[in-house]
Amino acid sequence: MAQVQRMSKMMLKTLRDDPADAETASHKLLVRAGYVRRNAAGIWTWLPLGKKVLDNVSRVVREEMDAIGGQEVLLPALLPREPYEASGRWGEYGDLLFRLKDRKGADYLLGPTHEEIFTQTVKDQCSSYKDLPVILYQIQTKYRDEARPRSGVLRGREFQMKDSYSFDTTDEGLAEAYGLHRTAYTRIFERLGLDYRIVSAVSGAMGGSASEEFLAPAAAGEDTFVDCPACDYAANTEAVTLTPPAAGTTEHGPVEELDTPDTPTIESLAAHLGVPASATLKNLLVKVDGKITAIGVPGDREVDLDKLGEHLAPATVELVTADDFTDRPDLVRGYVGPQGLAGTAFRYIADPRIAAGTAWVTGANKADKHARNVVCGRDFEVDQYLDVVVVQPGDPCPACGAGLRIDRAIEIGHIFQLGRKYADTFGLDVLGQQGKPVRVTMGSYGIGVSRAVAALAEQTCDEQGLCWPREVAPADVHVVAAGKAKQTEIALEIADKLDAAGIRVLVDDRPGVSPGVKFTDSELIGVPAILIVGRRAAEGIVEFKDRRTGAREELTVDEALARLVG
Ligand code: ATP
Ligand code: MG
Repeated sequence: MAQVQRMSKMMLKTLRDDPADAETASHKLLVRAGYVRRNAAGIWTWLPLGKKVLDNVSRVVREEMDAIGGQEVLLPALLPREPYEASGRWGEYGDLLFRLKDRKGADYLLGPTHEEIFTQTVKDQCSSYKDLPVILYQIQTKYRDEARPRSGVLRGREFQMKDSYSFDTTDEGLAEAYGLHRTAYTRIFERLGLDYRIVSAVSGAMGGSASEEFLAPAAAGEDTFVDCPACDYAANTEAVTLTPPAAGTTEHGPVEELDTPDTPTIESLAAHLGVPASATLKNLLVKVDGKITAIGVPGDREVDLDKLGEHLAPATVELVTADDFTDRPDLVRGYVGPQGLAGTAFRYIADPRIAAGTAWVTGANKADKHARNVVCGRDFEVDQYLDVVVVQPGDPCPACGAGLRIDRAIEIGHIFQLGRKYADTFGLDVLGQQGKPVRVTMGSYGIGVSRAVAALAEQTCDEQGLCWPREVAPADVHVVAAGKAKQTEIALEIADKLDAAGIRVLVDDRPGVSPGVKFTDSELIGVPAILIVGRRAAEGIVEFKDRRTGAREELTVDEALARLVG
């Protein structure tokens, strides 16, 4: 039996006004409803109600991690420099890392994530293949000196993370541990009542499932992703593989050269010729490992340089500069067209929309001139097709063809097949079946526990306030004594009765607070069921209110109890 939470005794102060610096709904409401209190930028205190919600999220995470065989540990947050120096992350993290010195002048850091320390732990504790596989996890405070710690607990500089790490001797074992985490995360986010999507965190070009993110769609999110309104397709914007349209078959006239003075941009060219931008062919020049390469995309499209870089990795991609044109008179800056350039030191990569048989308006390789009816496959060849355009709203869904949406989301989880990177750094081997050392392979998996609280608040709140799913709510029911001392007395009796039935109760028994203020606070605090002990309380009738729908019903106390137990 839990303790009845009496508002008359709790440290709880609700606020009528939004904090001045708050931008997101969750930030405003969690502060106003008395769940959190700001200490400094990105540093927060969890007040009694907030701590309850945070603990509920942690409990769900813990139960599901235990269910996949995870073993809970707790590593320190204050860490020595050396392991992070060995992995290179002492430097790589740059300004994100909180670094400090002890009294002897030795360097320390506050852990932003713990791959290094978990690797060392397993190296110390496991010596044989028989000791593996293991999944270790912790729910712990992490530190990152975020550049813009805004949005309340959504992006803290000190925050709670569940991080887990899997250790296996084989790639199959790693894939299995990854799959277990994927299942656990699905269960966790479902139990929490979060709306979420799983998206590949790397581009399709790198092949899939080695890293996925769990995104909670919300306007306050800092990530964008592509979402299909018609099917369950979702992807990171840079990971979408767009389906090319079918090749053109119409006959086209011969190439025609056009005078196009003062048309430096696609917009000015399209306006001058009276054609849509999508009928023009834009050729972006880049250097791939130092060699000039043109990237052809329809004029209404932008090249996604990240996507291009991932396709061409490990080659490096750089933009060209004026110097690159000095010994290339064939390349007329601003008027480049792929026709007539084949066979020269020029490679042509194109978007699949530049299909064989399609005709384009493009540069004529002469200053102030463009060419019309430049046909792919007749007037120029494409060396390589790559999907490199920035996805746009309305692009066809690769799964079902419906127009895609671009939405904002909060990253709530991330699962990642790390492989042997850290095992190599720390020489993590175990003795294999054949008696020879085997290098261990690792996965790393994170959930933003404190961020999940804010993400849930974002997704479930309304005009009146917070509105928690029951699993995470600070109580199952909020009993409001609305009236005189008699109502308070009855409310406390009802609270005890509910409590005895195993229901978590918050009761507003504050003396001298008007029913109006209590109702407003109950909406703000967001417990999913509200029980109003008012005028008919003496007859044994209370009002049961659904926080989400606002629906109200008069019930006997026993009926209300049955409703809450059921
Ligand atoms: P982001 O891109 O939002 O900065 P990340 O990719 O750096 O996050 P990871 O290193 O993958 O984050 O950390 C695992 C999880 O921890 C994230 O999925 C997120 O839910 C949470 N998280 C990361 N940074 C923060 C933060 N500053 N405040 C709260 N939660 C965070
Ligand atoms: Mg991440």
